[in-house]
Amino acid sequence: MTSTIESSGDPMEKSKFAFELLATSRRARRGRLTTPHSVVETPVFMPVGTQGTMKGIIPEQLLAMDCRILLCNTYHLGHRPGHEIVRDAGGIHKMMNWPRSILTDSGGFQMVSLSKLMTLDEEGVRFESPHTKEITNLPPEECIRVQQNLGADIMMQLDHVVHTLTTGPIVEEAMERSIRWLDRCEEAHTKDEQTIFPIVQGGLNLELRKRCSEEMARRAQVGIAIGGLSGGEDKSSFWRVVAACCDWLPPHLPRYVMGVGFAVDLVVCSLLGADMFDCVFPTRTARFGTALVRRGGQLHLKQQRFAHDYRPIDDRCECHSCKTYTRAYIYSNIAKETVACHIVSVHNLHHQLQLMKDVREAIAEGSEEAFLNEFLNEYYEGGSVPGWIHDAAAHMGYSLKQTRGEIDERKHKANHEDVVELKRERKVI
Ligand SMILES: [Zn+2]
Repeated sequence: MTSTIESSGDPMEKSKFAFELLATSRRARRGRLTTPHSVVETPVFMPVGTQGTMKGIIPEQLLAMDCRILLCNTYHLGHRPGHEIVRDAGGIHKMMNWPRSILTDSGGFQMVSLSKLMTLDEEGVRFESPHTKEITNLPPEECIRVQQNLGADIMMQLDHVVHTLTTGPIVEEAMERSIRWLDRCEEAHTKDEQTIFPIVQGGLNLELRKRCSEEMARRAQVGIAIGGLSGGEDKSSFWRVVAACCDWLPPHLPRYVMGVGFAVDLVVCSLLGADMFDCVFPTRTARFGTALVRRGGQLHLKQQRFAHDYRPIDDRCECHSCKTYTRAYIYSNIAKETVACHIVSVHNLHHQLQLMKDVREAIAEGSEEAFLNEFLNEYYEGGSVPGWIHDAAAHMGYSLKQTRGEIDERKHKANHEDVVELKRERKVI
């Protein structure tokens, strides 16, 4: 695999990063992002390895799936094993034996998920360590120092995250502060082999989003993120914010929509012009024995009906789990052994990566309208498709063959499952 654009010493060729658009079709983009560690084909889904390890997966398995980039959580790595230890071990790539691209988040998202333990002012964020109860200061400069110690290709700026459903002056304040914090992050940034992605904030307010998109685009060097979504907002607001930001952001920057991982969201956002996504959903849901499939979206393998089902999870899937194990085997192990969780995690990540590969092919061929119809037909099993998808499709100029339904019951169920597990995880922390 092609891996590096070496610096030749010529300042014009100094950047170790590049983004190239290979094809566009309507709003959708088929691109290629080059980092110091790998070439990433976009649109791309980035699996999340919380503490430098993917729950139930080892890096070799991700390589076998041709995963090119993954995300690691700075907040968690900062506590265990600690960013200085990662630096002394030769950086995160070496420490976790992952030769390809890595993106680290800023720890900002944890402000929302651990907000009982946090205070924030212009200087930065202050956390109480859930492990030691010590107070940790995280100004933007420290956020970059920590991420430089970790050594990921892409670092995220420290931003002021407010809950998606928050309204009032705080949304604008947080957006303005995020711009000032980006400037401080850039001041502290000293390593050419790492880049910082700014994060567009502004809640569900399109005027704020527009201002923030313009300010961040002016400062962005390699790519840019759209943050503050996937926090429980209605789907109609979600896709409209993504669509609007993609319209405002310049075409030469890859656009990373943070926290998106449901198959249908990945497909719609890719067609709206987004290029990068991440979510813990595929591995988190695997821990409940839920496998992601094209036909119907999900299979809940804890159900009794799988006890004598000797088919693979998905007979069209090429992953190691589907070539090797049956639904009955997974069912028999699911509540007792971690091996079942591992088998389902491998399948779920493969499913997401394969889906993105199919999306990329459809965009490159200009056949994404047919792809969208075929995908929705399978996902909703020939039934009605939620109204927000019809609206997004109409906005993009695609016509859907399916009838319009108002509520995506499957999604509500999945969201509920996620929330239940998040609560459990917080107790563990
Ligand atoms: Zn599979």
